[in-house]
Amino acid sequence: MLTDQDRIFTNIYGMADRSLKGAQSRGAWDGTADIIGKGRDWIINEVKASGLRGRGGAGFPTGLKWSFMPKESDGRPSYLVVNADESEPGTCKDREIMRHDPHLFIEGCLIASFAMNANTCYIYIRGEYIREREAMQIAIDEAYDAGLLGKNACGSGWDMDIYLHHGAGAYICGEETALLESLEGRKGMPRLKPPFPANTGLYGAPTTVNNVESIAVVPTILRRGGAWFAGFGRENNAGTKLFAISGHVENPCVVEEAMSIPLQELLEKHCGGVRGGWKNLKTVIPGGSSVRCLPHTICDEAIMDFDWLRGQGSGLGTAAVIVMDQSTDVIKAIWRLSKFYKHESCGQCTPCREGTGWMMRVMDRLVTGDAEVEEIDMLLDVTKQVEGHTICALGDAAAWPIQGLIQHYRDEIEDRIKHKRTGRVSAVAAE
Ligand code: SF4
Repeated sequence: MLTDQDRIFTNIYGMADRSLKGAQSRGAWDGTADIIGKGRDWIINEVKASGLRGRGGAGFPTGLKWSFMPKESDGRPSYLVVNADESEPGTCKDREIMRHDPHLFIEGCLIASFAMNANTCYIYIRGEYIREREAMQIAIDEAYDAGLLGKNACGSGWDMDIYLHHGAGAYICGEETALLESLEGRKGMPRLKPPFPANTGLYGAPTTVNNVESIAVVPTILRRGGAWFAGFGRENNAGTKLFAISGHVENPCVVEEAMSIPLQELLEKHCGGVRGGWKNLKTVIPGGSSVRCLPHTICDEAIMDFDWLRGQGSGLGTAAVIVMDQSTDVIKAIWRLSKFYKHESCGQCTPCREGTGWMMRVMDRLVTGDAEVEEIDMLLDVTKQVEGHTICALGDAAAWPIQGLIQHYRDEIEDRIKHKRTGRVSAVAAE
């Protein structure tokens, strides 16, 4: 288990002072100018050495992403945009950083911006995060007043401005190019790639979009060294990670743990275990609602990192762990996600616009059992036609939960259809 000395987020529960003074007493803004003084290459190499992979879901190596930004300006400015649009169902980790440890995050924005030659950083915060926006703005103002931001930020010689932009509450604005569109004042619709944002991003200028947690861990990594961070987790799955555990556990929580912790240990050490005991576990969605669920048999051995979960056809995603016990109607639970994705599709590409609605309508009938058994394979076929055939990842996100359901709970779906025919409805379906 991760020790307190190795936790990056030491005020994640908001028990201590979140102001600048409080944050500084916990080590934030310590030696920031010295870190910047070591130069861009040193920062990027150290982040690469830490093995940090993006914490927003895709898990792309952060240092490598930063290295795609132009080293010399061609006349255009460079931008860092931080994706704080945390809208994935089950995901609530960045919220805790922003409302309880905002200074670590802001310091990370300065260092990351410097490393990418950006004098301006935009933080795009989810529309529903009103209190978090207030906490962030207070912290940004404090940093300006203390000379940590603005001209010659914290005496580093680097000029730095941070703007906090409040979204309007659309899930799709968490997709990086939709976020840029929204930031530019247009409808949040994903752009076709290429060109990638590192080449043509915000206002047509080189831009890197990073997740809040990815940025907030950077100052501590640089203070303690990339090798320290790389010492946690398995190879290629390094570091500490915020896990957000919800659903049928005794104590749902957000907790920082070492990457690659076994799922059972995570739930039993930090959440008081599954409601009714481990044997009462039915399924877990390990990475926010967009990944395939894992049945109990796989959960027994599950390791919480990018590569292990991908090997099972699922994913770590945002590390939002949604736990469901035996009382759950898993067909209905996945139907609810289908409804969500149908609602949030921006509608600009046909497989997603039509497919999400089609999938949701079949799921409607699978919940009640008013379907033919053959429709299960038809539904699976539609998910394959949506997956990988859309502009952005929302199409995959809508397809994967259904694929996981059919892969692991086909018997349950068939039983419900057959029971409906014979007039015997199972207890959970009747609710
Ligand atoms: Fe919009 Fe869906 Fe296409 Fe993404 S996949 S661009 S959300 S229609």
